[in-house]
Formats: sequence, structure tokens, C-alpha cells
Amino acid sequence: MKLIFEKGAPGQHLTLMPECDVPEVELSCARKTAPKLPHVSETELTRHYTALAKRVHGVNDGFYPLGSCTMKYNPKINEDMAALPGFTQIHPLQPVETVQGCMEVLSTTEKLLCEITGMDAMTFQPAAGAHGEFTGLLLIKAYHTHRKDTARTKIIVPDSAHGTNPASAVMAGYTVVNIPSSDDGCVDVEALRKAVGPDTAGLMLTNPNTVGIFDKNILEITKIVHEAGGLCYYDGANLNAVMGVVRPGDMGFDVIHLNLHKTFSTPHGGGGPGAGAVGCKALLKEFLPGPVVEQCPECGLYRFAQPEHSIGRVKDFYGNFDVVVRALTYVLTLGKEGIPDAAKNAVLNANYMMKRLSEKYTMAYAGPCMHEFVMTLVDLHDTTGISAMDIAKGLLDHGIHPPTMYFPLIVHEALMIEPTETESQETMDHVCDVFLQLWDLAHTDPQALHDAPTKTPVRRLDEVGAARNPVLRYVAG
Ligand SMILES: *Cc1c(COP(=O)(O)O)cnc(C)c1O
Repeated sequence: MKLIFEKGAPGQHLTLMPECDVPEVELSCARKTAPKLPHVSETELTRHYTALAKRVHGVNDGFYPLGSCTMKYNPKINEDMAALPGFTQIHPLQPVETVQGCMEVLSTTEKLLCEITGMDAMTFQPAAGAHGEFTGLLLIKAYHTHRKDTARTKIIVPDSAHGTNPASAVMAGYTVVNIPSSDDGCVDVEALRKAVGPDTAGLMLTNPNTVGIFDKNILEITKIVHEAGGLCYYDGANLNAVMGVVRPGDMGFDVIHLNLHKTFSTPHGGGGPGAGAVGCKALLKEFLPGPVVEQCPECGLYRFAQPEHSIGRVKDFYGNFDVVVRALTYVLTLGKEGIPDAAKNAVLNANYMMKRLSEKYTMAYAGPCMHEFVMTLVDLHDTTGISAMDIAKGLLDHGIHPPTMYFPLIVHEALMIEPTETESQETMDHVCDVFLQLWDLAHTDPQALHDAPTKTPVRRLDEVGAARNPVLRYVAG
């Protein structure tokens, strides 16, 4: 397919700008040569992007079991709400009296998500999950510093944590103490007991962890950390497995981030705007990024306030507001029954597929799992030469998006599967049939899988070449 820059010809263009009706001014900083923009007509431009869109595979095209990323169903009504002019045609510097509705959205969403997580306050400033982790760690740091407890320089991170956890801890100026998992995929409690001490600032726990397991020792884990004087951070990016069923606040966690762009229905995967909402218990509230929304008890009007010992802003204005509108719509439309139902379906679907696939594939950890599970294809690779990558490529020819591959790193030849909670049994049966067929094909005709995919717009790509010699710029001819 040609790039947009390689299409069209000089003279073809769109006329979007009206004729200039004010005197022209010569800018001293104006560029000397015209920018090399594409010369295409409106029709050609539309066709170009439509052709690109047709080559993309999304949840609306077919099964998309990308583990850890939660490609969840995003109800269309959320998009309609986020597009309402009252939300899109405003300016962040407008006087608060004129945007009371938007302030109410922030305040109501905070209340509802605090109820779901068991927290006391929440900020929507962080723009992504990792950004939320960083913010949450700054809250922990501010708490210890405020108490003049400055010896706490270490954050404990189990090896089953999401990769962003240790990275965020380092960004926040902490030293990371890595602790291993036991054979059942849970935190090794004895190793944790040995790791905590007067230098422990806190623990970051991804739960369900990156192998899709709910840590059965969770209450003991938070107790051990608290007794050592540390605080507990819950990576709740994948709250879709537990929302409405259990609350991190009740498990002893002091601070949590949610990925509104995973669990609370903003489409993601294309790198669009997200929100790593950070919730905390009352003891951390005074450190939250400012401003926060509060309601005047006398007049009922919403206003902005600065928390007393705020860590400062982590993003301009109030974060990605439209993502919050989608989250609110999602929570209100699902309600008290729908939220736990979505979680239960996510877990049921994953366990259904895990059970069916274990007929032939080896699971990395015994079930039951939460919203996702990890298979290890080491045996298949040893006996047939077919790798996790080859199976993933084989799926493409059946119109199925591959699962997450070679992650988490603690499992070899890993395929990590997370069916969307809204998938039907019929669809999952079809996908399981394809997985099992590919297993057979690996034994009967491995070359066919080495050659896959054959039906996609591009065949197998040179991934090593792309990583070693990436072409990141278009050089105009
Ligand atoms: C996706 C994810 C993150 C990171 O979120 P981003 O928005 O990509 O920064 C953190 N933790 C877990 C468990 C995740 O699944």
C-alpha cells in the first residue's frame, strides 16, 4: 500500500480554509520553504484512511484475546455521551460556575469508583496506568516524608507484577526489591517476610497478577507490609476481574490505580487518551494532586480546592476528561448488578477457554484463573519445532487476533489469553476449535505453520529487522 505522501499530484487539494478576509501579515519566523504535505483530493484522502481502517483488526472485527491489555467491549452509548457538546465545547479555564455539570461528572465518578474500590478519594489527572503508578508512589513518598520517616527507600515488587511497576518505583526515586513467586504463581510469603524492614516504603501488588491469579494470601501480604510500617499499592489496571465482587480497600490496600481505558470502557490499543485514576485511603488524601473537586456544603455548588500537602500537578488541568465521562456512563448503565456480572463473565469466559484448551495445551499454572490465563508451549516447541509465535501466526489466517505472546517473562513460550467478557460460548468454542486444530497441524504439517499467515495483507514480518533497524522517518523523495 502506498503512503499518503506517495499519492496525488501537485494541485490536488482540499479547500477547507475560507478565503482570507483580513490583511496578510509577514511573519519574521515564517518558514522559507513550503512544508512537504501530501497533495490529494478529499476523495483520495477518505479512500486512503478507509483502506487503512480495513486492514486493522479490532474487537468489532473479531475475537481479540490480548491478555494483560483487556480488549473489553466498549458500549457505543459511552461514545455518544462523551461526544455531547456540553462536554466537548468547553474550555478548561472557563469559570467553574459555567461548568457545574462537568464538575458533577468528576465528583460523581470519584464517589462511584471509590465505592467500587473501597477508597476514600480519587484523582483523574494521570493519563495512563503507569502514570497512575508513579502518582501513587509519590503519595506514598509524601506520606513517609511528611512523618519525617525518611529511611524508607525501598519498594517491594513481586516478579509476577506488571512490568511497569518496578519502572514506576525507580522513576519515583525508590530502590526496587524483587521477590519471587511460589510454584502456584502467588507471592512467596516467606520471602516477603524476609524482605520487609524499616527501609520498606511499600509494596506494589498486581492483582490479579500477570499470570491471571488472585493471590490467595492477599490479607497476609498487606498485614506483613503494614506491620513493617510500609504502605500497600494495588495495581488495579485489570479490576475487570474483581470489580463489584471484592474491594482492594477491604484487602488492606492504601492506594490503587485503575486503567479507565481497560476496565471502564474507553477503547484502547491505538494509543489514544487514557486515564490512570488513582484512589487512596483518607491517610493519603491530603497529598493528592491538585486541584480536586469539592461541593460547597452550604450552596451545593462544585468548586476546586487544593489538598493541604499536595504533591502538585501530574498533568495539565483535570486529566483526560472525556475518558471519565465514558467511565461514568459505563458504571451508571451497568449499575450495582451489571458491574459484578461483567467481572463474573470475564472470569467465567477465561476459565471456560482454559478448561477446553487444557485438553491439549499445557497451562503454566493450575486453574482456576481470573480474567486471563497463561499457556506454556515449551513441550510443543521441543517435540514439533512449533513456537508460541507460530501458533499466533496460524490464528491470523482464521481471522483471530493473536493472544499476548512471550509475556509474562517468567513463563517460557508463553501465550496469554484473555477473552472479552462479552464473548458468547459459540465464539469461544470456535476459537478453541481453531487452537486445537493448530495443535494437530503442528504435529502433522509443521511447515504450514512456519509459513503462516498466508491470508493476511502482509505475510510474516521480519521482527528482528524491525527491532534492530527501525525505519521511523519517511524521507521525502
Ligand atoms: C496495562 C497495565 C498497566 C499499564 O497501563 P498503561 O496505561 O499502559 O500505562 C499497568 N499494570 C497492569 C496490570 C496492566 O495491565
